[in-house]
Amino acid sequence: MTHEPTRLHDDAYFMQAALKEAHKAELIGEVPIGAVIVHEGRIIARGHNRRETLQDVTLHAELVAIRQACRRLKSWRLDGCDLYVTLEPCVMCAGAIVQARIRTVYYGATDPKAGAVGSIINIFDLKHNHRVAWQGLLLQESCSQILKDFFAHRRAADKAAGSRATRRATAQAEQARRQRLPADPTNPDNRG
Ligand SMILES: [Zn+2]
Repeated sequence: MTHEPTRLHDDAYFMQAALKEAHKAELIGEVPIGAVIVHEGRIIARGHNRRETLQDVTLHAELVAIRQACRRLKSWRLDGCDLYVTLEPCVMCAGAIVQARIRTVYYGATDPKAGAVGSIINIFDLKHNHRVAWQGLLLQESCSQILKDFFAHRRAADKAAGSRATRRATAQAEQARRQRLPADPTNPDNRG
């Protein structure tokens, strides 16, 4: 008979911590996705998306957290560790989660375009030598709202930048039309 360690916090608490990480990503202009890894009832690693900042495609929140957890436990095997992430993991992260022997994955929002835990494929259902348990839609509303807000702001900013650029181009064209271009001194016709 196994002894479960006393749970100091519930799943919602850990997902809130992952949401805090997502906010950190948002503050640096990254798509707000955050993750934490829990071992024996304690958070041992945190990560947020830093792909754009460091121009590194592997820096998804989950992988940042997995690397930190491996350093912390001095092992690539994260036996008995649970991962909480605000968005359904992609194929790359789901693969790393299996490789790291994570016990359970909890995710918040589903990712219909790239989610690999049921949306486009379920990596955890494939035959591996390690089985990852998973549960989705934990604090789903907060986890998807932060993403919706981020993309809404970005669209608004792009639109404003677009209309500013259009206004500037129109003004420049108008100015050029009004002003006569100075005579070209290299043209022999213009030489006195
Ligand atoms: Zn990923």
